Amino acid sequence: MKIATPYYLIDEKKLLRNLQIIQQVRQLAGAKSVLALKCFSTWCVFDLMRKYMDGTTSSSLFEARLGFEKFGKETHAYCVGYSREDILAVAEFADKIIFNSVSQLDRYYDIAKAAKVGLRVNPGISYSHFDLADPARKYSRLGVTDKEVLAKQIPRLSGLMFHYNCENDDFETFVRQLDTIGGCYGDMLKQVQWVSLGGGLYFTKEGYPLEKFSKKLADFAGEFNVEIYLEPGESAITGCAELVTSVVDLVHNEMDIAIVDASVEGHMPDLLIYRLPAKIEASGRGDHNHKYMVAGRSCLAGDVFGTFHFKDKLEIGSEIRFADAAGYTMVKKNWFNGLQMPAVAVRRLDGTIEVRRKFSYADFMNNLS
Ligand SMILES: *Cc1c(COP(=O)(O)O)cnc(C)c1O
Repeated sequence: MKIATPYYLIDEKKLLRNLQIIQQVRQLAGAKSVLALKCFSTWCVFDLMRKYMDGTTSSSLFEARLGFEKFGKETHAYCVGYSREDILAVAEFADKIIFNSVSQLDRYYDIAKAAKVGLRVNPGISYSHFDLADPARKYSRLGVTDKEVLAKQIPRLSGLMFHYNCENDDFETFVRQLDTIGGCYGDMLKQVQWVSLGGGLYFTKEGYPLEKFSKKLADFAGEFNVEIYLEPGESAITGCAELVTSVVDLVHNEMDIAIVDASVEGHMPDLLIYRLPAKIEASGRGDHNHKYMVAGRSCLAGDVFGTFHFKDKLEIGSEIRFADAAGYTMVKKNWFNGLQMPAVAVRRLDGTIEVRRKFSYADFMNNLS
């Protein structure tokens, strides 16, 4: 079956590999994992993910509701700034409600207290290659920074949330961070039931020392008598999806340029935000000596996926597949330029491909009014 491009293709077999690692950490460390929906909320693969993960966490009322309706198990609700309407709504279904500040906790505690109430802590340490994504950046609004103020809230809290990493694949750094958190907040951790260590830990990466990682988590849980949650987003779905495109034009301006039927700005915007090139599997190998800049078809001049070497000359209709199109990608796609939005397809564990969602002119029109 030939599927019309452009489309995102999620591969459940690749997803399963990450999920099995998550399950291993769960078994070895006793740490639960909830999926961070802001990274990935393509719910057509939740039936598979649900078997290996404990629930979802969220950044807003709508994400929390999606987690509750489509994933089930535990629903953690977090938001940087809840409105009263948000809190009234999430209180109907969330198992845990995590506040970002003491003022939000004060304002909404009475509505939230039937759930388990948590508070986000900003430990002042972080790991991130990008200031834009650094929760401990100067003037950060993410989490409570004042330890004395935090200590006064403990009687109202069932847990604390620390999210301070972004794509941290360095186990030694993680150990130092956790020791710092234990040293600094240990007294408070002993008085709560759970602690979430957030996302941004790249423990599904090839070669990550999983057993040591699990032991470190288990030791931490034992020392402070807390249940540990991880909130993997990117590490749960990394490497699991492609953006499949076709060449619609070939032009030349000092170099060969292939224009595809998708757009970085519209369909993989994080590449522009973080100034990273797209990845193509099989690119740059020995006998791949046809070099092209591959660009999107939006009118943005810098809508460029990157420069790659291909085995064969590209032609109109040649297929180009960009790797790593799951995390922070499908959730961010947009209708800029009114370009055809990529469909959502899944390769199931048994190999069959299902096209789950196609987007039409009506979707474009109804996106605004
Ligand atoms: C973004 C976020 C996550 C997920 O982060 P990843 O880097 O995708 O693992 C988890 N928890 C919170 C609170 C977040 O803001």
